[in-house]
Amino acid sequence: MPRQVARVLFTEAQIRQRVRELASEIQRDFGDEDLVILAVLRGSMIFLADLIRFLQGPVTIEVIRAASYGHATVSSGTARIRDEMDVDIRNRDVLILDDILDTGRTLARIKGHIQSHGPRAIRTCVFLDKPSRRVVDIKPDYCGFTIEDHFVVGYGLDYKDTLRNLPYIGILEEEGN
Ligand code: 5GP
Ligand code: MG
Repeated sequence: MPRQVARVLFTEAQIRQRVRELASEIQRDFGDEDLVILAVLRGSMIFLADLIRFLQGPVTIEVIRAASYGHATVSSGTARIRDEMDVDIRNRDVLILDDILDTGRTLARIKGHIQSHGPRAIRTCVFLDKPSRRVVDIKPDYCGFTIEDHFVVGYGLDYKDTLRNLPYIGILEEEGN
């Protein structure tokens, strides 16, 4: 385990099991309906890759970029959105996928932005949720795990652009320890 990781919060096996369950929930709600899965890069890319392989319906994948933390472990409160979408989402069901819901600012901004593209409906799916940190009133429609206020890494989530490749979710060692 990298020295920056204090302990494992969710193992690879636990993640796999939960992602499979999430896919069943999504499958149950959308079935064979057309669905656009819009992944918020870069944090959700591993979650995206795992989730879509458990889905059987006709899904279209698109990505959008957001960055809110820079190199800090506390949200700066400004989420920059970079939209280079090619997929036409007008009148389509869109499922926004993000790695973690923290203050809620990022997802709220992305939702508002996507709304302006005229989709039929928007749903949100986050792998992790830290409700105790919420500043904006937003709840995910689908959520992998609800966690306490820890800075977590792995399974797509980074620490200063590293550790995204860890196959588990780990809690970051307090800086200075
Ligand atoms: P929010 O706008 O909800 O405060 O922040 C959401 C974004 O902040 C996430 O998409 C993620 O990029 C980043 N973030 C929030 N909490 C964590 C965390 O515990 N670990 C990591 N690596 N990123 C986080
Ligand atoms: Mg993110």
